[in-house]
Amino acid sequence: MARYGFLGLGIMGSAMAANLVKAGFDVTVWNRTPAKCAPLAELGARVAASPRQVVAACDLTFAMLADPAAAEAVCFGPDGVLEGLTPGKSYVDLSTVAPATAARIGAAVSAAGGRFLEAPVSGSRKPAEEGTLVILAAGDRSLYDEGLPALEKLGKKILYLGAVGNGARMKLVVNMIMGGMMASFCEGLALGRKAGLAHVDILEVLDAGALANPLFRLKGAAIGQGSFAAAFPLKHMQKDLRLALALGDELAQPLPSAAAANEAYKKARQLGLGDEDFAALFKAVAG
Ligand code: NAP
Repeated sequence: MARYGFLGLGIMGSAMAANLVKAGFDVTVWNRTPAKCAPLAELGARVAASPRQVVAACDLTFAMLADPAAAEAVCFGPDGVLEGLTPGKSYVDLSTVAPATAARIGAAVSAAGGRFLEAPVSGSRKPAEEGTLVILAAGDRSLYDEGLPALEKLGKKILYLGAVGNGARMKLVVNMIMGGMMASFCEGLALGRKAGLAHVDILEVLDAGALANPLFRLKGAAIGQGSFAAAFPLKHMQKDLRLALALGDELAQPLPSAAAANEAYKKARQLGLGDEDFAALFKAVAG
């Protein structure tokens, strides 16, 4: 039986690795902060001391890391992925990073004789727990085909988007839209509430018409309750906007509303809201 590795046990990685273990796969995990490995070990995962050890022990290793800096550190750093990678091994990076980061990692893995797939995901903590993410894969087609049984334990919809970089591009487009939607939503709620309207009434009106959507429904209720425990940390949403804006720069595509939204999230980070859910933007907007 193939052996699977999993690097990065944050909000998303811990839920995704758990799904692989629960599905009966042989899984070896690693996390920078070792304590986060304990719940996975209890479920039956093996624990390794470094990314190098995981990759050396496994046929296919997944990674779910915070940002481009983390993805590069784990791949290229000491005791990193490349040090354990021998010809025939496979690496699937699920993190949301810049297209250029995915390309650098993919080229290094290929140069070492391995196969690489980028596979950023759409969907948050709950879809990760339920195995219902949308997976945006791109890169080595044979690895995509062979990795499908494992990917199907993580996601309900799995797309193959072609060359490395396309997964990141798609993910950044989607999250740029979501970041902007949340910024408008928070401004509307703040304005309405300040004008004397009831939060629940605003949500009810939005939900009755063309603006109805699961994001407003879910986050609108959370904002109403003042409940901002991170499902998708605000700092990661700001990172995604920053990366989308960089892509816009590269392509000379004007993105004025995304740029304004990015400033709002930066303000929220400055206020210390980075580790809360991205709906905590409301607190920065409403004051
Ligand atoms: P998270 O809870 O903040 O977890 C981040 C993970 O990255 C942790 O395992 C962390 O290790 C690790 N990490 C950070 N810097 C590192 C470094 N320099 N070296 C090694 N490991 C490092 O984030 P998350 O919500 O799971 O998100 C992970 C990725 O998925 C991000 O790219 C995010 O944008 C994307 N994503 C998130 C969601 C969501 O709703 N949460 C949805 C779709 C995509 P420690 O435990 O040691 O800090």
